[in-house]
Amino acid sequence: MSQLDELKAQRRGLMIVLSSPSGAGKTTLTRKLLAENPDMTMSVSATTRHPRRGEKDGVDYYFVSKEKFSELETEDEFLEHARVFDNFYGTPRAPVEEALQEGRDVVFDIDWQGAQQLTQAAAEDLVRIFILPPNMRELEKRLRTRAQDSDETIAKRMSKSEAEISHWLEYDYVIVNEDIDTAMEELRTIVNAERLRRKRQPWLGGFVKSLISGG
Ligand code: 5GP
Repeated sequence: MSQLDELKAQRRGLMIVLSSPSGAGKTTLTRKLLAENPDMTMSVSATTRHPRRGEKDGVDYYFVSKEKFSELETEDEFLEHARVFDNFYGTPRAPVEEALQEGRDVVFDIDWQGAQQLTQAAAEDLVRIFILPPNMRELEKRLRTRAQDSDETIAKRMSKSEAEISHWLEYDYVIVNEDIDTAMEELRTIVNAERLRRKRQPWLGGFVKSLISGG
């Protein structure tokens, strides 16, 4: 690692919020982003909803009872929490704070309510990205292909999609996910640009000083 690389590593992590209506491809984008950035961590939320097929406790979510959830809420263990559909979701506070201090970016798959709460709590570290589907037919198709939810749940999610989409103006960036490779390139561009913001590179002051003094 060059001396400059070492300096560049001295940064605070970003809080990257990805929101979208269900089925817009957010999960795929998130997985790819994490695979490309081994230092990045995913914020694992606690939820009272039941696990879907293939979902693992502690990986996809911490699956908890309603009682446990309200206990965690009372103890102020959540950075933000919200009710989505008929379930509760919350972001555990401690792992996020630890990662940011270590200079690691944290990715959040949370809804507009969570994004709003994080804007109140941590606007400086926040990058809010909204993912849109190319059209509503595609959204429904993706929900059905997933085939893990009942027809009733899919209908409910479709009807909620419009409400979720109505919050697009509250985000810093919007990606329309028609083609996954293009969407991924756009996501990479956003993350790189946000890392390069002057305020996110606290080492620059000292660096410029030594540049000027001929160091
Ligand atoms: P799903 O049940 O499909 O995994 O998630 C449903 C919705 O809840 C998604 O829009 C997801 O982004 C949101 N969600 C998941 N975890 C959290 C969380 O910790 N906080 C908030 N506010 N929303 C969450």
